[in-house]
Amino acid sequence: MTEKKYYDVIVIGAGPGGYIAAIKASQTGKKVALIEKGDLGGTCLNVGCIPTKTLISNAQALHTIQHAADFGIHVGSVSIDFGKMKERKDNVISKIRKSLEGLIQSNGIDILRGTASFKAPFELKVKGEDNQIIHGEKIIIASGSEPLDIPAFPCDHQKVFNSTSILGLTTLPKTLAVIGGGYIGCEFASLYAELGVKVIVLEALPSLVATQGRGVSDALTAAFKKKGIEVQTGVIVEGIDRQGQGVEIRLKDKAVVNADVVLVAIGRKVVSKELGLEMAGVLTNEKGAISVNEKMETNVPGIYAIGDVTGLLMLAHVASHQGMIAAVNATGGSATMHYEAVPAVIFTLPEIATVGMTLEQATEKGYSAAIGKFPFQVLGKSIASVETEGFAQVVIDQKTGQILGAQMVGHDAASLIAEMALAITNELTVDCLTETIHAHPTLPEAWLEAGLIAQNTPIHFPPKVKRL
Ligand SMILES: Cc1cc2nc3c(=O)[nH]c(=O)nc-3n(C[C@H](O)[C@H](O)[C@H](O)COP(=O)(O)OP(=O)(O)OC[C@H]3O[C@@H](n4cnc5c(N)ncnc54)[C@H](O)[C@@H]3O)c2cc1C
Repeated sequence: MTEKKYYDVIVIGAGPGGYIAAIKASQTGKKVALIEKGDLGGTCLNVGCIPTKTLISNAQALHTIQHAADFGIHVGSVSIDFGKMKERKDNVISKIRKSLEGLIQSNGIDILRGTASFKAPFELKVKGEDNQIIHGEKIIIASGSEPLDIPAFPCDHQKVFNSTSILGLTTLPKTLAVIGGGYIGCEFASLYAELGVKVIVLEALPSLVATQGRGVSDALTAAFKKKGIEVQTGVIVEGIDRQGQGVEIRLKDKAVVNADVVLVAIGRKVVSKELGLEMAGVLTNEKGAISVNEKMETNVPGIYAIGDVTGLLMLAHVASHQGMIAAVNATGGSATMHYEAVPAVIFTLPEIATVGMTLEQATEKGYSAAIGKFPFQVLGKSIASVETEGFAQVVIDQKTGQILGAQMVGHDAASLIAEMALAITNELTVDCLTETIHAHPTLPEAWLEAGLIAQNTPIHFPPKVKRL
């Protein structure tokens, strides 16, 4: 007979949403179970953020070596061992996964290995390595998402890959076509181009990374073209045929693109079908995404959903923050999720990072918005380290001086955006920014200079009107 167990909180899925929710809930002294059907760490650790950024750090190292002569350093001929790069990526994942398991266990959380599905609102069946029926007073669903495969050009994982299967490659193709110019497609395009692969990006919309605002997408397109990446926007792919050793991609306008391999990066779909949500009465939208309120609670009180499965912002740090909010609410506290200051990063070379509103969005919302834009080309630290591409830009409300948004393209933008996320979360004004002493010479000085420009008092940038 199956043993029945009772928990205060059960979390389904051990991605960056689920495991953080489980740890947060366990800190209140509650008895917590975390159910995982695959590998601990979910998409992010195993086939998302960590593997891609590990590979991208190889490309960054290569980029530095290739520009060594700028620093007066002469290196011999450079060669790439992509198999070794993949091996390093796999080692990084297993190292983090191992320490994650220890971390979860050290919090007294029961890890149950298997697939969870609802039998009733607060009763779950776990099927797999661990087979049992368990009851939870509160349930947090964090079942994530997976690559979207479309019938017109299904992935065969030999020549046509998705973002998961391409991570298994051990040799570099000569040419790679990327279908989809969103952030996942652009990160892979940038990575492979840095490693010397001829890359073609095919995007249906009029611009790359369209949601990030015109300025950012124009800067990325220009950087891609400079790198030799072919960017075709406004093109619709109709099908892919195997052609000799490679593939032929058929476009709607009858044009054809040839490549050795293709990456299909056209989006992701939520994982909710096998959860048996109907047994619990949990409602989803037409795409299967679980509907939640600002407390991350579903239509069934006591059942929460977080992360990609909600179909909101599909980012690891959003999933983690939602996980903390849900855990607080599920353990007797009260917390609300806000989305005004979510940083978003695209790990291309150069990096792109944004938070809050673009100028267009702020103007649409009725603000009397203005920008201050400062190019890295004139920043001491950037010139010293030969990283002068890109800019820092702040968007402010001219009436109150409040910082509404920030965009950055350039070296280490991913780390630098944190200052602006802090500013926007805490509703700081541009005066707070320009009154903050920034160490010299550093890259964060670019925010200070952008703030001064927004105030119309630039220091290391010429005034709008030349003083005579
Ligand atoms: C190539 C790529 C690069 C990315 N890079 C970044 C990045 O740089 N930064 C960033 O913020 N985000 C990035 N993301 C997105 C990020 O990975 C996701 O937003 C994040 O993983 C979502 O977390 P989650 O906990 O909601 O779901 P997931 O990480 O998908 O985890 C869900 C877990 O639930 C398990 N599960 C599902 N159903 C069940 C079930 N019935 N029973 C038991 N277990 C179940 C799954 O096996 C999985 O482990 C990237 C994604 C991809 C694909």
